[in-house]
Amino acid sequence: MPYTGVTRDLNGPGTPEATWAAAELPGRLPTVDPASLRPAPPGRVVVVAPHPDDETFGVGGTMVLLAALAAPVVVVAVTDGEASHPGRADELRRIRLAERAEALRRLGVADAEVHRLGLPDGDVGATAVAARLRPLLSADDLVLTPWQHDGHPDHDACGAAAAALVQPDRLWFYLIWAWHWATPAELPWERAERVPLGAAATAAKRAAARAYASQLEGDTPILPPATLARLLRADEVLLRGPR
Ligand SMILES: [Zn+2]
Repeated sequence: MPYTGVTRDLNGPGTPEATWAAAELPGRLPTVDPASLRPAPPGRVVVVAPHPDDETFGVGGTMVLLAALAAPVVVVAVTDGEASHPGRADELRRIRLAERAEALRRLGVADAEVHRLGLPDGDVGATAVAARLRPLLSADDLVLTPWQHDGHPDHDACGAAAAALVQPDRLWFYLIWAWHWATPAELPWERAERVPLGAAATAAKRAAARAYASQLEGDTPILPPATLARLLRADEVLLRGPR
C-alpha cells in the first residue's frame, strides 16, 4: 500500500511489536542477499546515522554481514545525540561517542571510518545534511539512510538529503520511528525487502545495542522495552530508493 503519511505521533508506546508480528512480514517480503548489497571496489557502505545508535538499530545486522564480506564501512554521524536528555549536552556528547565506538566494535566494524558532521541534535535540516554529505560520497558507494518519512525531523532530513544526492539503485532506506507511529497498512511494502540476519549477526546487533546504556537506563529510558522489541528483530527491512 502506498505511503499515506497520516500520522507521526512519536509519543506513547507506539505500535506494539505484536501488531507487526501479526502482519507476518518475514513471509511476505523478498529477501536481500547481503552479497548483492556489497558495492564493488572502490565503493564503500556508507551508513547515515542522525544520532548515535540509529546505525545499530537500523542496519546493525546488515553492517555485520557486509563487514564479513570485507566491505569497507563508513558511518556518517550527523549529530552527536547531545539532546537526548536536556541540559547535559557536553556530557552526552562524550558518553554517546564512546557508546558508538563500543557498538561498532561489537558489530565487527571497529575500524569503520566515522565522519562527524556536528549538526545540532533535533535541528539538522536536509540542506545542511546534503551540503556536508555530498563531499563524503563517491558514485560507487552504497548508502543506507533513514527513510525520509521516518517521522523524526532529523531522520527525515537525512533521508531527503540522501535521496537528492544518491542514485536510486545505490540507496536503501531503513526504518526506526516508522515502526513506532505507523501501522502495517501505512508502509510502502512494494519497495521493501528484508535482510535475514541469522543467529550470529542478530546476537552481535543485540550486543551492540546494549552498548548504548545512556538510552536504555533510567526510570523513563529513551528506548523502553517496547521500542527495543521492534528494533532488535532477527531481520532488517530496507526500502529501495525512490525512482
Ligand atoms: Zn535517531
